[in-house]
Amino acid sequence: MTTLTLAKTDLNNFDHLLQRNKEFAAQQSAESTLMPSLPRALPNVKAVIIGCADMRVDPAHILGIKPGEAVVLRNIGGRINPGLLEQLGLLGRIGEVAGENPGGGGEFHLVVLQHTDCGITRLAGDPAKLAHYFQIQEDELKTKAVTDPRAAVAFDVAALRAIPALPGAWLISGLVYDVATGLVEIVVPPAPIRTAQNS
Ligand SMILES: [Zn+2]
Repeated sequence: MTTLTLAKTDLNNFDHLLQRNKEFAAQQSAESTLMPSLPRALPNVKAVIIGCADMRVDPAHILGIKPGEAVVLRNIGGRINPGLLEQLGLLGRIGEVAGENPGGGGEFHLVVLQHTDCGITRLAGDPAKLAHYFQIQEDELKTKAVTDPRAAVAFDVAALRAIPALPGAWLISGLVYDVATGLVEIVVPPAPIRTAQNS
């Protein structure tokens, strides 16, 4: 997370946001024949990306994710914590209710995307808040590796792999985006959540 103070630019003017939205809607309308399935809430989602709320790391920008391609869940750090897991669980439920079958009809990819220079590292000096965020004891915080994005993303991928409710055939991967270079590093290459032997 970088500073949350918005620069004194267009975004201070609400009218500018609404104007951008009008332009977006007009463009959507012009392209609607190309993307006929967009009005559905969960159009055959093929990926869920878990990422940080930091405004520099929007998957739409850094991975070129287009509308309808992936569900993006963002929190502080892009970390797996009880709040994130609740959202993931509800997402699966929404998919069921909507009659979709995420991951059932082909390859489905769960991506954990964290990044360098993450604001969560600045919470390292506030273990009580961090422990509450992860719903763990302060003396367990070391395992979460909040100051090391590569270790953290590997830890979180392992945590997701340990959840029996997640389909073993889904692919899972862990990426770290370098805010200095703009490149993502593959820390955990895409692989099934569980192999056939231990699914
Ligand atoms: Zn961050």
